[in-house]
Amino acid sequence: MTNIINPGTLVVTGGSRGIGAAVAKLAAEHGYAVALNFASGKVEARKLVNEIAAAGGRAFAVQADVSREQEIVSMFATAEQELGPIKALVNNAGVTGGFARVEEVTAAAIEKVFAVNVMGAILCAREAVRRMSTRHGGTGGAIVNISSRAAHTGSAGEWVHYAATKGAIDSFTIGLAREVATEGIRVNAVAPGLVDTGLHAANGEPERLQRLMPTIPMQRPGQPREIAEGVLWLLSPAASYVTGAILQIGGGR
Ligand code: NAP
Repeated sequence: MTNIINPGTLVVTGGSRGIGAAVAKLAAEHGYAVALNFASGKVEARKLVNEIAAAGGRAFAVQADVSREQEIVSMFATAEQELGPIKALVNNAGVTGGFARVEEVTAAAIEKVFAVNVMGAILCAREAVRRMSTRHGGTGGAIVNISSRAAHTGSAGEWVHYAATKGAIDSFTIGLAREVATEGIRVNAVAPGLVDTGLHAANGEPERLQRLMPTIPMQRPGQPREIAEGVLWLLSPAASYVTGAILQIGGGR
């Protein structure tokens, strides 16, 4: 365990499963009080909160659909009230919108994936900046956005609309990093390659990782914990001069 004393409250969106759950666990091990957000995964979120508590950490499950502004505003207020001043945000919640070539994709699917992956991330960052920026009386902090290697591969034939949301996240990361660089806040992104989570099966192809294995130079998918390690490094004082960076964790992909 890294020896960091009480780094403050971390809000992790989509903390009930996959990469978000691994971030929540590792952050608690690093001493963060974790506000673990979920949309529908109440049982999983509660279970993880109990696991963290049993290991001596501090966590609180907070429900919010990040595509809804009011729910985001309430989530930050609750997190602060339950766990104390917010010092970090990991924008992890994400959906793919499902497989569709561009000529087949529906407006509803595009709207949904941009609402969760882009608008949700920007509004969560807004709430975090309002609390952490020295411009608003805060004491600084760090934000990590979960992008994807899809922003660069483009995900042709699978979900170009999803890849486009991650391109937007990369631009947002660079822009916000520069906007708040003198206000005590660092903003970075982690771009995972193919990671072994339920995301692939949830989109109807449990064998997706197997199918795409030849495209991964290391010839294996990443584990959520391997993504979380990069996130925790970017949040930590060890990354004190890193802002606007997009850290690829993709086994070479
Ligand atoms: P996952 O296992 O499907 O988990 C998705 C998480 O997002 C769940 O905790 C889910 O919460 C939450 N979520 C979904 N919609 C939400 C909403 N409207 N409001 C709040 N939370 C919501 O996915 P994952 O693979 O861990 O992916 C996490 C992030 O990594 C995403 O941003 C994804 O795009 C990115 N990523 C994943 C991969 C990969 O290969 N897995 C690769 C690159 C990037 P509920 O359980 O409550 O629904």
